[in-house]
Amino acid sequence: MRQRTTIPDSDWRDGFLFVGNHLTLDFLNTRPVQNGEPLELLSDFSALLRWFHAAGLLSIPEMANLQPQGGSVAARRTLDAMRQLREKLRKEVLAWEGGAHLHRSTVEELNQLMAAYPMLSKLQASGNAPSWELWFEPRQPEDLFAPVADSAAKLFASVDHNRVRKCGQCVLHFYDTSKKGTRRWCSMQLCGNRLKVAAYAARQRLHANKE
Ligand SMILES: [Zn+2]
Repeated sequence: MRQRTTIPDSDWRDGFLFVGNHLTLDFLNTRPVQNGEPLELLSDFSALLRWFHAAGLLSIPEMANLQPQGGSVAARRTLDAMRQLREKLRKEVLAWEGGAHLHRSTVEELNQLMAAYPMLSKLQASGNAPSWELWFEPRQPEDLFAPVADSAAKLFASVDHNRVRKCGQCVLHFYDTSKKGTRRWCSMQLCGNRLKVAAYAARQRLHANKE
């Protein structure tokens, strides 16, 4: 039976879900399942730009610079390739969460992307506490691969796979940064409450049957 669910507003930012605690996982979560059907949030190039903006990767002027290229072959190819990469990463993350080794083809693809679209670094001097940060220059659609590939490489290389899991109730993935490390749901609003309500209803039924 299909479960009818409506995702509440609180887990959305500009029409996208940010419950993953990691850019790569939020990227995977751009294809949630709602009312039993996969929901493609990266529906066109403009949506892709809006996701990058919502994720804090593109400023409004940067988004406006890329927007006119939306009808180009490069934009269409980038959107297709971005979705393909997302689905490849989804399979890889799922297996990796379970302790599997990364496929060589995934490692090679990420290395190729990082070589072609590297992140740049800069030193920010503000007061007496200079900071170092990564940035990229989004001149053409393909440049958007820079932060995505960088983030995926960092996830696999520096995050404990035991702390990354798929929600017990839905297709969303998250990085469990809780102290105890026992988070089971993508979010309390999306799935936690649903489970609690289901458990409560089951207890009520049990109680009613006893009477
Ligand atoms: Zn969930």
